[in-house]
Amino acid sequence: MSLSVLQKHKRLALTLLNMAIKEGKIVRPDKCSSCGKKCKPDGHHDDYDKPLKAACLCKICHKARHRLIITNLLEAAEDLISQVTPALFNKWRSVIRKAEKELAR
Ligand SMILES: [Zn+2]
Ligand SMILES: [Zn+2]
Repeated sequence: MSLSVLQKHKRLALTLLNMAIKEGKIVRPDKCSSCGKKCKPDGHHDDYDKPLKAACLCKICHKARHRLIITNLLEAAEDLISQVTPALFNKWRSVIRKAEKELAR
C-alpha cells in the first residue's frame, strides 16, 4: 500500500511534533484541549506545514475533528462542481466517502 503525498506530509508533521515533545520543547498536556477530558491526547494538525502548532485531542474529539474536515471537504467539492467535469466530481466524492468510511471504523 502506498501512502499519498498528504499522508506522508501528515506523518512527517507528527514525527517532528513527537521529536519536539521528546526534547521537552513542547509539553504534551494530560488532557484534551477541546473537551478537557483527562487522557494521553493525540497530536492533531490542522496545518501540516506547522508541525509545532498541533491541537492535543482525546480520541473522541480527534475523530470528530477529522469528520469535520471531511464534511468541509465535501462541501468545498460541491462548491467547485461547476468548475470540474462530472466524472472528476464523482471521483472526488468517492474518495471523500471512502475517507469517511475509514474514519467511522
Ligand atoms: Zn476531547
Ligand atoms: Zn488529526
